[in-house]
Amino acid sequence: MIEWPNGARCACAITFDIDADSLIRTALPDDGHDRLQQVTMGRYGPTVAMPRILDTYARMGLKQTFFMPAWCMERYPETVEAMLNAGHEVAHHSWRHENPATHSDEIEEALFSKACDTHVRMTGRMPRGYRAPVYSTTQAMIDRMIERGFLYDSSLMADDVPYVMQTEAGRLVEMPPHWGNDDWPPFAHYEEIGYMMPVRAPSDGLRAFFEEFDAAYATGGFWMPVLHPFLTGRLARWRLFEIWLEDIVKRDDVWFAPLEDIANHVLTQQPRIEQLPYPE
Ligand SMILES: [Zn+2]
Repeated sequence: MIEWPNGARCACAITFDIDADSLIRTALPDDGHDRLQQVTMGRYGPTVAMPRILDTYARMGLKQTFFMPAWCMERYPETVEAMLNAGHEVAHHSWRHENPATHSDEIEEALFSKACDTHVRMTGRMPRGYRAPVYSTTQAMIDRMIERGFLYDSSLMADDVPYVMQTEAGRLVEMPPHWGNDDWPPFAHYEEIGYMMPVRAPSDGLRAFFEEFDAAYATGGFWMPVLHPFLTGRLARWRLFEIWLEDIVKRDDVWFAPLEDIANHVLTQQPRIEQLPYPE
């Protein structure tokens, strides 16, 4: 059981992955740039949805965490600047949304480093956290993060609340997502990445996140939706999310913070430890 600061019942981090048009370009490297429907669906995230989301956070006084492929950071520097100016955390989300499990460790090492360089150049520091595209973190990636002094990963699913992964090389906090807290299943319609879901009405799809919050609140837990500006940042969905959030933020026993702050707090507690690597 983790005790949250100031007697809060539950820790919350609304995380957004700003994938933009990296998705189609990595899925179809030869002609993805000319698939304009998919390019524009992605571009909507940083250009239209992000100002909307940042505006909501500013009004509510929230500081949160955004994961962004470094290729997207370089394409949309004004988005990075807006996040930094508002005091949000920008975390590592690959170079161009490549899946670490689908190529060699040498290639992944090079792409991971290239992305770190972009973070240092554009944010002034190394990122503290990482989320793998499609949650595809490997053991090599965990070792890589520990070697580079990362504080946390946010891709793996062994618990409801943050836990610590202990390896021979050191430790890494895991801020666990799960598919019930992810907006791809209710809202994504993306044939080129093999993701054809029946798109839900906003109230129907978002209800899953609200019920996840209720359970975290009731049990003193951790609530971390994994959202995407091009999905949940669309007009009707964000409008509803914002109305709901307004009431939650008013409660004085809910702690909203960037993942970096929550992970640091977890290390002052006695979190559950998972020993890695897992047996083959
Ligand atoms: Zn992503």
